[in-house]
Amino acid sequence: MTSISQSSAKEEIKRVADIVQLIGQFVQLKRAGRNFIGLCPFHAEKAPSFTVNPERQTFHCFGCKKGGDVFTFWMEYHNASFPEALRDLAERYQVTITGKGSDGANERSQSEAIFKTNDMAADYFQTALGQSEKGVEARKYLKNRSISAETASEFRIGFAPDEWDGLVDFLKRRHADLSLAVQAGLLVPKKNGGYYDRFRGRIIFPIFDLRHRIVGFGGRVLGDALPKYLNTPETAVFRKGELLYGLHASSRAIREKGRAVIVEGYMDYLALRGHGLQEAVATLGTALTPAHVRRLKGYASEVLVVFDADEAGQSAALRSLPVFSEEGLPARAVVLPEGHDPDSFVNANGLERFLELLEKACPLFDFYLEQKMQESGSEEGKIHLLKDILPILSEVGSFPMRSLYIRRLSEKLGIGEGALWSELEKISKSPSPGERRDGIKEQVSACGVDRKLGDLQLLNLVVHHPHAVRRLMACEWKILLSDRTVLEIVETVFEQYHQRGQFSNDSVMDGLKSESAREQLREVLHRPFIYSEQEVEQAVVEMEGKARRKAISASLKEFRGDINSLNELLKLKACKQRAAGEHEGSRRE
Ligand SMILES: [Zn+2]
Repeated sequence: MTSISQSSAKEEIKRVADIVQLIGQFVQLKRAGRNFIGLCPFHAEKAPSFTVNPERQTFHCFGCKKGGDVFTFWMEYHNASFPEALRDLAERYQVTITGKGSDGANERSQSEAIFKTNDMAADYFQTALGQSEKGVEARKYLKNRSISAETASEFRIGFAPDEWDGLVDFLKRRHADLSLAVQAGLLVPKKNGGYYDRFRGRIIFPIFDLRHRIVGFGGRVLGDALPKYLNTPETAVFRKGELLYGLHASSRAIREKGRAVIVEGYMDYLALRGHGLQEAVATLGTALTPAHVRRLKGYASEVLVVFDADEAGQSAALRSLPVFSEEGLPARAVVLPEGHDPDSFVNANGLERFLELLEKACPLFDFYLEQKMQESGSEEGKIHLLKDILPILSEVGSFPMRSLYIRRLSEKLGIGEGALWSELEKISKSPSPGERRDGIKEQVSACGVDRKLGDLQLLNLVVHHPHAVRRLMACEWKILLSDRTVLEIVETVFEQYHQRGQFSNDSVMDGLKSESAREQLREVLHRPFIYSEQEVEQAVVEMEGKARRKAISASLKEFRGDINSLNELLKLKACKQRAAGEHEGSRRE
């Protein structure tokens, strides 16, 4: 029953959903011929190889080969299981899944159970914040930081009273499964049995994912206790290195403004938002990761990173530069005056002054160079600096930008531009391990390029011009193919055509056995047509001819092989006879 209702819901969603519109909310897409293209959200790249095809309602990345339909995208992008994706999309497109009530409980995955427990805990923390006595200090703290009641309720800010079993008791009263609360990182098991609260005496900031579900919590102490900030430990749904606080609320503004402002903590984020800056996000006390930057790339064309003036802030700025260059997202560094963080700055000086700082922000590379120069006074220091900076420079995609940086570097270090260019060239020539692998792949395909080209031509013809199939089937087509995955696809197409007199790309996709063949088929479907309608006839004639010629030369080869072995045999025989004759002769002598 379930599968029937689920599969019809799946069909219904596929019918009403528009893949370009859906993916477009997470990836910036541009029209390019039949397809839309953008930067892949699943691998690092500077030039778009991620394509979405509106006719077929599929996506495919020519870089990392990920691809599929709206469901595949949703599962990949949100780390969701198929039932989760089905439910999310059903909700989004208002498709009712029948029989959901009866089997929903069984399907509920561990992550969903964690979300539910988190939601309950957030209720508990929010209630505690509102309680007249218990929450008084916390409310005072938020008020002093200019966090309004509206902001507090929008972000479900709460308070964990300084008790060991406040949440434990609350969850027990709600008949919640406490072991799930342990998996959610909310409770800690005691040595002698039982549990205690992880968050105590802290303001609580629930952390949401892009689907507005609570994945974890951050807690800030009210007094001077340590640690100042405490986060949910890594759980099945809480991965610090991928999450950005506030992105669920800011993504629209980031897209509209084309820029994102990154700060370091939830208080900074909330203060800026309270003052009207909508396009901010915060990291959760971790350094920026490629996953963060990749996610932001889908919304912003530029990032402003706000750093504290202290040493930790500076070193975070330095570490983030390679991440931005590798992902090809331009970034500028905003440095606050000594002793300030964004929260204190905007509360003391207002948003206008903060926006002025944003305007004055310098490219992250310049900031990096400036900092490194201060560190490296000696000649040796300069060489050291070059070692750090040239690899980063080699990642800068735009040539004018690179030239500009080379000039600046040359001025700063007093080393000639020519020398710097030649050093840079050396680095660009010794590829990183990842590139080396790609390089080998490229070489291999370059050797086989002729052979492979023939395969791809035939595949393109078969897939995009189904009316050519009947004639191609009749010729010795197998002889034209050298690639096993292409062979699998063409064979499946011909089989289906033979059995049913027709085929569809979906039925072929379902009929393929290997993942590599499915990948290959998706790829060719996202590639432009090689032949126009007028050229199809000519292409078929050429392929028929080529197949004939290849078949003849193959049999000739066989024939020549036969002749050769016959000659060999004769030679051998003659040899033996001669040897026998000589033997005879020597005996006679
Ligand atoms: Zn990709």
